[in-house]
Amino acid sequence: MKLAIVGGGPAGISLGWFLRGTKIDATVYEGLDDVGKKPCAWGLLKGIENQIDIPKESIYSEIKGFRIFLDGKLISEVRERERLGYIVDKPMFLRKLGEKIDLRLNSKVVVKDGVLTVNGKQEQADKVIFATGHYSLGKDVTIPAVQYITDLNYDPEMVDMYFYSDLLGYGWIFPDPKGAKIGVGGYGSVDFIKEKLKTITKGKVLGFHGARVSDFGVLEERLNGSYIGEALGTVYAVTGEGIRPSIMSAKIMANALLEDKDFSKEFKRSKLYWSLQIHAKVIKEAKARNSVKGLERVLLKADPRLVVKFAMGDFGKLDLIKLFGSSII
Ligand SMILES: Cc1cc2nc3c(=O)[nH]c(=O)nc-3n(C[C@H](O)[C@H](O)[C@H](O)COP(=O)(O)OP(=O)(O)OC[C@H]3O[C@@H](n4cnc5c(N)ncnc54)[C@H](O)[C@@H]3O)c2cc1C
Repeated sequence: MKLAIVGGGPAGISLGWFLRGTKIDATVYEGLDDVGKKPCAWGLLKGIENQIDIPKESIYSEIKGFRIFLDGKLISEVRERERLGYIVDKPMFLRKLGEKIDLRLNSKVVVKDGVLTVNGKQEQADKVIFATGHYSLGKDVTIPAVQYITDLNYDPEMVDMYFYSDLLGYGWIFPDPKGAKIGVGGYGSVDFIKEKLKTITKGKVLGFHGARVSDFGVLEERLNGSYIGEALGTVYAVTGEGIRPSIMSAKIMANALLEDKDFSKEFKRSKLYWSLQIHAKVIKEAKARNSVKGLERVLLKADPRLVVKFAMGDFGKLDLIKLFGSSII
């Protein structure tokens, strides 16, 4: 089978990687002149290394601890012996995986009336998978996220997460080879988000960029076997984590294609789907109440390790009840 994968982000590249050397002849088309150009803080949580290679040279640091702030006040700090995740040089990570697959850069895809064109030229494929990220999503299912890169001298093993009583969203300070990436994303105007960002910015600003990020959970109408990654909604809505879940969705797609199984059924059976939808439910309920009080209470009262389990999507029903009460299930 000849497969066209549209988009060379974590979802598209990893689908190509999972399918390399198999009966499926996959080509990844990326519209830009390089991979990993999309604004991102490069945080990759642990666990995914069991599914995909993370080339050593692309790992900037291993995350061993985190701090959580509410309205600028430190509310918890945890430092572990074991790593919680990585900061990866995302372009290098994707380039390294891309070397092992048929990846075509500068290849803008349009699919119209079932016809696939690449840079205006018609191409043949038995199947097309869209891994086009937030670029294919509307404003109703995404929020703005903006980020500074600064020269802040920052501990490479720590990450800071910021939450606010007047913003349904999150801020972060992540280590970066140049110093730190400092950002805020949330359900508000870009101006409001930028104001919030100023309150946590430290160090000399070296760069600024932004993009939209999904906060809706999985889009059921796209669960038809043609979408993976953020284009399908695989971002944890409470934290904005999208790299690892996008790779996980690609793995489920690769297995479904190789085993002639129905992707939608396989995906819906996965813990990934369930945990993404729980995150999305927390956000939808906060939006409906127009209040972040519920989340605030969790941050202030719950065991920080349980909060991390929730953030990572690594939770069960009992954990949820402890955090939110039984109404969440
Ligand atoms: C500011 C910010 C910081 C973030 N930080 C983190 C973080 O630290 N950790 C984390 O896990 N997540 C983070 N995220 C989310 C994460 O970046 C995304 O969820 C993740 O990259 C999604 O992967 P993807 O492959 O589905 O889509 P993308 O990475 O968006 O890749 C899609 C690709 O498709 C290409 N494309 C689109 N349309 C076409 C077309 N028609 N033809 C050819 N190519 C096309 C695009 O150029 C793009 O390269 C952040 C998001 C933002 C906005």
